Amino acid sequence: MRSRGHIPIRSCIGCGEKKPKREMIRIVCQDENIFIDPKGKASGRGAYICVSLDCLEKAIKKKAFSHALRYHIPSEVLEDLKRNLCQEILKRGEKDEKKNL
Ligand SMILES: [Zn+2]
Repeated sequence: MRSRGHIPIRSCIGCGEKKPKREMIRIVCQDENIFIDPKGKASGRGAYICVSLDCLEKAIKKKAFSHALRYHIPSEVLEDLKRNLCQEILKRGEKDEKKNL
């Protein structure tokens, strides 16, 4: 009774923890464009991160985005990505809180 259906597990590039991928945020690198993939359907190389500002901070610090996406991300692009991810994390965090009420 261990596996009920197929739940894809991914590890976070920040903390390294493994979680179901729909609990995470996917970042995609496609033709040198880096963007957040909310539906997890975009093609291209993807990286996953927890919905956590802590993990975002860790991932930025250890340059995990460049490693995971195998692309050297220019710092201004990384700044942009960080801003967008912050928003996404806050947005999802809010949603989760409401769900728990
Ligand atoms: Zn994490």
